Amino acid sequence: MPGDGREVVVGLDNGGTAINATVLDSGGTFLVDRLLETPSRVGEGPQVAIEALAESFSRVLHLTGVSPDSVRAVGLDTPGPASADGVISARGAVNFVDPAWRGFDVRGALEARLGLPVIYNNDANAAALYAHHVHFGPDAVRRSSVSLIVGTGLGGGVIEGGRVVRGAAGMAGEFGHIRIPMDGLLAEGQPTPVCNCGLLGDGESVASLTGIKKNLLPYWLSRYPDHALHSAESVHQAATQVRGYACAGDAMALEIFRQQAIALGRLFTIAANVTDPDAYFLGGGVVEAVPSFRDWFLATVTEHTDLRDEQRPLATFALVPDLDMAGARGAAIAAGDTLGWAPPKVPSGS
Ligand SMILES: [Zn+2]
Repeated sequence: MPGDGREVVVGLDNGGTAINATVLDSGGTFLVDRLLETPSRVGEGPQVAIEALAESFSRVLHLTGVSPDSVRAVGLDTPGPASADGVISARGAVNFVDPAWRGFDVRGALEARLGLPVIYNNDANAAALYAHHVHFGPDAVRRSSVSLIVGTGLGGGVIEGGRVVRGAAGMAGEFGHIRIPMDGLLAEGQPTPVCNCGLLGDGESVASLTGIKKNLLPYWLSRYPDHALHSAESVHQAATQVRGYACAGDAMALEIFRQQAIALGRLFTIAANVTDPDAYFLGGGVVEAVPSFRDWFLATVTEHTDLRDEQRPLATFALVPDLDMAGARGAAIAAGDTLGWAPPKVPSGS
């Protein structure tokens, strides 16, 4: 039986709608090769959601034929904002609307429920850690990388020597809320984008679904009065359709993604001057887009990342692989690392 008699860690990626689960054994093999999702029920408050995590934990062990006695630790990731040790922000979080989530210690609660050590990361850090290990394999512990993950918001992760840089308060790698120059990015007469955090012209105000909805799309629709997206049911609906239009070569949609690519390149430029990483990873819905659009987008981000002559030959730009499984797998890698396990076997492209 796979994993039988071995020590394992379980990785649980707790999202706004679903929990994705995986199992990693001490030999560095993932025992789950597909998406194993169950409802996260986070909308029903923390108590229900912790039970949902416990059910997901039992289910993935059952499906992989691993005894609960073999589990040494659990890796957990959730969307932020949350502290380094898994306390959801007292100001609330987009994915944790129920007021009972404010200031809730999700890591501690799961640890108490399962009776096992729980190691916490935010979802962007977990995905960044996975991307790093897939890309570098056995070299992961000697390499550094920076990841930007474009979703509803803009997540970021900094990896040094194969480990997540968390920072004193758990706020390291929050590239979404770094302000970037807007000259040469905004079009003539385009208003300065505003972020939900209150900042003007930060990374997330441009490079996120929220940025498209609030800032980029309203402006670009005013420039394209006959565009089909004018008749979408809602701004949200329209925003979610922009990528599909871009993949089909639509001029307005490509303007929007060009602005996002410039913003991401400028954030990578900041990273180049802070940690000077070996690799720059890009994640988000773009990973699943048609190759022609995906390749153009990554090339445009690369073009707008201003590297020094000494840096460019050493730097790699790549996409975060297996985005759906990256969070759970990254969370599991972090848990294995706390036990002193060697890096997992994750062949590139897996
Ligand atoms: Zn912001």
